[in-house]
Amino acid sequence: MSGQGRRAVSVLSGFLGSGKTTLLRAYLQRRAADDIVVIINEWGAVGVDHHLVRTATEQSVLLQGGCVCCARREDLVRTLRELLDLEQGGKLPPIRQVVIETSGLADPVPVLFTLATDPVLRHHFAVASVVVTLDAVHAGDLIDRQPEVGKQIVAADRVVITKPDLSSAGRVAALTARVRQLNPAARIGVSCLGEGAEALDLPDEAEPARAWTIDPPPAVPHPDVHSATLGFSAPLDWPSFSVWLGMLLEAHGPQMLRIKGLLDIGEAGPVVLNTAQHTVHPPEHLAAWPGGNWEPYLVFITRGIDPARIARSLEAFQCAGGRRGLRATRIDQAFGERS
Ligand SMILES: [Zn+2]
Repeated sequence: MSGQGRRAVSVLSGFLGSGKTTLLRAYLQRRAADDIVVIINEWGAVGVDHHLVRTATEQSVLLQGGCVCCARREDLVRTLRELLDLEQGGKLPPIRQVVIETSGLADPVPVLFTLATDPVLRHHFAVASVVVTLDAVHAGDLIDRQPEVGKQIVAADRVVITKPDLSSAGRVAALTARVRQLNPAARIGVSCLGEGAEALDLPDEAEPARAWTIDPPPAVPHPDVHSATLGFSAPLDWPSFSVWLGMLLEAHGPQMLRIKGLLDIGEAGPVVLNTAQHTVHPPEHLAAWPGGNWEPYLVFITRGIDPARIARSLEAFQCAGGRRGLRATRIDQAFGERS
């Protein structure tokens, strides 16, 4: 605990695909402590990262189907109050630290605002730090194109520049200078493959507490962002899907903020798909479906494109590729709050 007996909250933010989950996993493995609770917020309706983290700590909670800085703010309050009740009722070990991994689009400031103004939470939780991951390969472009990235940098106490091995020393130096310009007070570190996880350590007691100036949340936090989760009426034809995906990313890469999926391609196991803008992690063919009740799905988070258009184009491509009659069925849609 810190801040006059209050439980410390670390807000971990960073744009889609910037390495938040890798950093968090490394931190939890290093600490291996039962006094850390993790709250993971995913914009899409199907949480994948959550299952990656669950192996490291059982005490994780998933907030999905919307962003914690806008649409899911009340859920965050409810979750933290429930954790507090569980701890006070002896059903959870004393909580030293809560790590909130925000959706990649979240502005940390409304989260801080929520913690600082909720009449119950503000007595029991204190923000220890805002840690923001920045991808060394794409952050330069993203700062110009995606308004959330600048907001995350400005709100950060610590910025962790990730994937330097995929970039160059010159680009890392330029990015560092850019971050420094936006937020002269942030501590900036460089991390490779989850190194630098100490950024999530609680600040020393001796370190002066940060003086927060917190403005009310903005009215339209994520202009023009949409997401949709699709299911399919039949297994996908993988070769034609690969071609379609390549063309989609070629034409609209910067607008395809995230594509994630667990795809049924008619084999024994599924294909795991994960892209963030132009970056496509090599699709992974699993030998069998993971345990639990997994249904195949495909999540799109887009900026400036209606996911329904993408679904129609995928259907047309699959029909041309031999999957006649394949239909995309919409499972769920999630938006940021609109006002
Ligand atoms: Zn939001």
